[in-house]
Amino acid sequence: MFEGIPADVGLVHEGERIRRNDMQVELGGPQVNEKFELVRLKPPEDIEQGAIHIIGPDLADLEEGKSYPFGILVEIAGSELEENLEGVIERRIHEYCNYIEGLMHLNQRYDIWIRISKKSFKKGFTSLRYIGQVMQELFKNELPIIETIQITFFTDPERVGEQYKEALSIYEARDARARGLTDEDVEVFYGCALCQSFAPTHVCVVTPQRYANCGAISWFDGRAAARIDPKGPIFPIEKGECVDSLLGEYTGVNESAKERSMGEVDRVYLYSGFGYPHTSCGCFEGIAFYIPEVEGYGIVHRGFRDLAVNGLPFSTMADSTAGGRQIDGFHGISIEYMRSQKFMQGDGGYEAVVWIPKEIKDRLADYIPAPIYEAIATEDDATTIDDLKAFLLAHNHPVVQRWAEEEEVKEPSRMPVLTAGEIPITTGGFRILLKNARVYADKVIIQPVQPKKPGRGESS
Ligand code: SF4
Repeated sequence: MFEGIPADVGLVHEGERIRRNDMQVELGGPQVNEKFELVRLKPPEDIEQGAIHIIGPDLADLEEGKSYPFGILVEIAGSELEENLEGVIERRIHEYCNYIEGLMHLNQRYDIWIRISKKSFKKGFTSLRYIGQVMQELFKNELPIIETIQITFFTDPERVGEQYKEALSIYEARDARARGLTDEDVEVFYGCALCQSFAPTHVCVVTPQRYANCGAISWFDGRAAARIDPKGPIFPIEKGECVDSLLGEYTGVNESAKERSMGEVDRVYLYSGFGYPHTSCGCFEGIAFYIPEVEGYGIVHRGFRDLAVNGLPFSTMADSTAGGRQIDGFHGISIEYMRSQKFMQGDGGYEAVVWIPKEIKDRLADYIPAPIYEAIATEDDATTIDDLKAFLLAHNHPVVQRWAEEEEVKEPSRMPVLTAGEIPITTGGFRILLKNARVYADKVIIQPVQPKKPGRGESS
C-alpha cells in the first residue's frame, strides 16, 4: 500500500517519541511561534487530485537539529462532505502522521509539533512529499467520502506567517459556530477515543458546553463525524439521567466511560477538577492546576514558556495531568471550554481562578465575568505564590473570602489539602500505594526525617 516510502508505515509506530538528540529536524513545536495544520473543503475544480506542493525548502535542505516554522494545508472535495467535518478530518492528520516510522506528531491546530528522526532521514526519508503520499492514501482509504485531495506543506517562513494568520481566523469562526447551544438542549453527547493509543483509558466527552480537550472537536464536529464514520473513533453517548447538574455528572457518561476505559473510570464530573474529573490524554491545550496555598486554580497553556506561578513549567504539570487518569487538581482543558458558561462550574467557575497567562486572559476578555477579570493575576502581577497572595488580597478576589470563612469555621473544604498520583506508605514489612489519594486533614505537619542513630547491637 505504501510503496516507494522509505520508512515503515503502520499502527505499530503510533506513540513513538523522538528525543532532541535523535531528531533530524523539528517542524513547529515550542521553539517557533507560527505553525498550523488545517483542512479546508473546496469545490472539486479548485483541487488537483493527488497534488503535493512544498512551498519553501524541503526536508533535505533544512539544517540538522534546528526547528522551523511549518504549516500543512489539506484541501478536500466530495459531494457528501460538509464544512462541519473539517475539524474532525483535520484531527486525523495527527493519527495518520504518527503511523510513519521515525515521525512524531503532537498536538493540533496552531500547536503542532513534528520531529523527523535521523534514522528515518538516513534511510531516505528526505522529503515532505512522503508524508503527503501517506496522508493521501490513508485519507482516501479510511474516509471514502473524500473524493479529491491535495496537500500543501509550507516551510517558507513568510508564507507560513501569512497562512497561519488565516488559519487562526478559520479556527475562531469554527469555534464561534459551535457556541450558543447548551448541554441541557441535547440528549446526546459525543465521545472521542482517538487518543487511546497514547492514553488507553482516556475518552473525551464532547458536549455543547465542554469542547474537547485538544480544542479541535466541538459537539457539532462530533455529531458530523459519528454520522459519516459510525465505526470510527467518535461515537454518540446517550447522556441519560443527570445525577448532578452543578458537577456535570450523567448516568450515560458514566456507563460509557466504564465501558470504554475497560472499567478504569466509572464516574465523570464534566465541570470539576476534583472528585471524578474528566480524564486527560496528553493533547490538552491547557491545564487547570490547583494551588492549595490560595485555594484557587491557575491556568497554563501549552505555549507558555516561563514557569507558572507555582514554580512549575507546563511540561512538568503535563506529566502529572496526562495518561488518561483522574488526578485531583490537575485538569486538562481546551481554551474554548474556558469560554463556556459551564467552565469549572463545580469548583466555582472563574471565581476559583486566580492566575492565567496574560496572552490567554486577553484572548478571553469577553468571556471572563467583568467583576472577577481585574482580580485574576497574570505573570505580570505575580510570579510566586507570595506575590499571588498579595495580589489576590489587594484585589479582594473571591477566594480571599473563602480564606476568611475557613479561618472562622475551621472545617475542611470540599477541596483536599493534599493530592497525589501515588502516596507510598511502608509499614509492617509491606509497601502500600494509595493511588490517586486525596487527603483531608485539620493540620498537616511536615518534618524532616533524621537518619536513625545505630543502637546497641546494630551495625552502622
Ligand atoms: S484530545 Fe480528545 S477529542 Fe481530541 S483527538 Fe484526543 S480524544 Fe479526541
